[in-house]
Amino acid sequence: MSGIVELADGVLQVAAQPGINVWVLRTDAGAVLVDAGLAAPGLLRALGRLGVAPRDVVGVLLTHGHPDHAGGLSRLRRAGGGGWVRVGEPDLATVRGLAPQPDSDPSTRLGRLMNRLPPPPGFGPTDPVADASALTDGDHLDIAGGLRVVATPGHSPGHVAFHLPAHDLVIGGDALFNLFSLRPAPGLLCSDVPANRRAIGTIADLAPGTLGLAHGSPVAGDVTGRLRQVLADAS
Ligand SMILES: [Zn+2]
Repeated sequence: MSGIVELADGVLQVAAQPGINVWVLRTDAGAVLVDAGLAAPGLLRALGRLGVAPRDVVGVLLTHGHPDHAGGLSRLRRAGGGGWVRVGEPDLATVRGLAPQPDSDPSTRLGRLMNRLPPPPGFGPTDPVADASALTDGDHLDIAGGLRVVATPGHSPGHVAFHLPAHDLVIGGDALFNLFSLRPAPGLLCSDVPANRRAIGTIADLAPGTLGLAHGSPVAGDVTGRLRQVLADAS
């Protein structure tokens, strides 16, 4: 089955739409989804390829509230699934529909330009998830052998990574992109570029064996060394 990557035992990565990964954590209670892709067709089909029906999804963890991560929740819920939804506290109001998407970092010219342009098609406001609740740094969830929430703000104010020590794995969302090469999230797509760089250092310090990213291939092997090099190249 092309496009499906088993990052660890019971932890699968699949593209909800081309170039937009989500993750399925199999638990005794059902499937926990990390991120949900865009508000466009694709997620339910991708889950189906893993044998996961919408009603099997007992909860959704969001790395952050951007439309290509939270947008797919509405289709999932309309299909009878989704369960609880949790997101880093600074992104919670956005996901609940009470605040707009955060501005790009205005310290760069492209960031200022982004803030004046309308969002690209598909990246407009997403359907509100009124019952979403907050994740905070250090939260420990009894999922997949123990999952720890690691605040990694900068791409968005509430961006978090998920550390699964039992699987030697970090799900890093959009802290970095690995599309053509491994790079920090593009500055024009960050709310705070220096914070994003510090967040990459935070992930490097976790020293996972594998790092899953929403856009691009997983990073495996000397993840810490790769991230330190990324930071050196970006400075
Ligand atoms: Zn994003």
